[in-house]
Amino acid sequence: MRDFYMLIGEEERQASDGRWVVSVNPYTEKSWARIPRATAQDADAAVTAAKEALVHPEWAGLSASERGALLRRVGDLIAENAEALSELEVLDNGKLKAEMLQQMNYLPQHYYYYGGLADKIEGAVIPSDKKGMFTHTVHEPLGVVVAITPWNSPLLLTTWKLAPALAAGNTVVIKPSEHASVSMTVFAKLFLEAGFPPGVVNVVTGYGHECGAALVDHPDVAKVAFTGGDQGGRAVYRAAADHLKPVTLELGGKSPNIVCEDADIEQAVKGAVSGVFAATGQTCMAGSRLLVHRSREAEFVAALTEFIAQAKLGDPMQADTQIGPVATKDQYEKVLSYVDIALSEGAHRAYGGKALERTGYFVEPTVLTNVTNDMRVAREEIFGPVLSVIAFDDDEEAIAIANDTPYGLAAGVWTKDLPRAFRYTSALQAGTVWVNAYRVVSYAVPFGGFKKSGIGRENGQEMIREYLQTKSVFINLGSSVPDPFVLR
Ligand code: NAD
Repeated sequence: MRDFYMLIGEEERQASDGRWVVSVNPYTEKSWARIPRATAQDADAAVTAAKEALVHPEWAGLSASERGALLRRVGDLIAENAEALSELEVLDNGKLKAEMLQQMNYLPQHYYYYGGLADKIEGAVIPSDKKGMFTHTVHEPLGVVVAITPWNSPLLLTTWKLAPALAAGNTVVIKPSEHASVSMTVFAKLFLEAGFPPGVVNVVTGYGHECGAALVDHPDVAKVAFTGGDQGGRAVYRAAADHLKPVTLELGGKSPNIVCEDADIEQAVKGAVSGVFAATGQTCMAGSRLLVHRSREAEFVAALTEFIAQAKLGDPMQADTQIGPVATKDQYEKVLSYVDIALSEGAHRAYGGKALERTGYFVEPTVLTNVTNDMRVAREEIFGPVLSVIAFDDDEEAIAIANDTPYGLAAGVWTKDLPRAFRYTSALQAGTVWVNAYRVVSYAVPFGGFKKSGIGRENGQEMIREYLQTKSVFINLGSSVPDPFVLR
């Protein structure tokens, strides 16, 4: 059993009352690490460290270009530590080493990108109608930002918040998931090594309803950026509302992946696999509803089941493993329960649907057919390797089914017909739409949800505004103030 610590200021700390949360490796089902179970007092200490760092000349006195240079330096350090960081994530959440390593190798690009943006946050001189006034705007940091993240891609999803928040000059307190915090405790120390002043990046570990809620409720926190489930997202939004704090919410989805009658079935099968079996379906953008034209349904399901029958299940650390366990025992039980619910509602099992008789939280990749969009399996986020296949007869019906969901995170369309692709991209209610592709994201492209999939966007240039506030300045260049009783 290994112990890992929080980072508050420059101090590695245990919880103030000495309690711990144990992390279980989902492949071995054995406890392997402990992280501090932070209290409200620990949350307060982290916010205080971040608040002090915010105005300390070591941080507040840096030029924007110097902030950018620090971000680029930490990007280099992440690249040097990518292998070790990815292995810690695999031990915690059971996702494939191949995927986590790729994420770690990609992570530095976010810090280079936002490092480059730091000194391009420009205000404007406004040629206003107010004669005799020199009028301009400046964009200033918000203050202390709290970043709360889930267990599926801990460092990547934190980076989507951290890199722009730091580029904008804020300080940050990170609260990673209680199920996968270890990589974050190691990662945070790279910021000190890169030369960020103590207190600019802090990490508090533990439960959402304990230290997470204390952070959101803290009066000195200016903004909360949250990625996670619907329930947690609503709780955070409600608590932030009491303080009128801005929030960014990246929540779940029930994303449609649509296979048109003219689709290249071989490619669409790969798209379905990357949509819901990659990452064992534990991805917010999972293409968990597969809408297929009725004329191609049998062919598609046969090709898909043949493809996944070849997939290698096993040790997520091995380079050739394609499907690993799900992250926790609760998640494993939840996924299996959805298969029973679907069958009781009339779905058919075309493939999988059972637990594997082996150590580890392994669920067979599962394909359900005869699903209709009103079944629970088509409406609720499962967050596991379960695909619901829904047949449609024409594009209008496909679009109607696709949009008939409270969510709107992502959607995929498979077609060789460009005008048809445009009709779909404009009609689909989703924050990201892929055509002949699935599960592609970039630090340069905004990501976020329509409808109940979230509020705000992450990634891309414009979203740095989510971490800034605009100040308008009027300077009277004249010598007299006109009638003081009238708004000018
Ligand atoms: P979760 O909501 O249970 O937890 C997410 C984080 O929020 C954790 O750190 C947790 O401790 C914290 N938290 C929970 N309740 C809180 C509260 N009341 N106050 C403060 N913090 C609180 O989610 P999870 O199970 O870890 O992750 C899975 C969910 O995340 C899925 O719904 C998935 O779709 C979503 N997700 C979304 C995206 C996206 O970008 N849209 C990406 C990945 C995951």
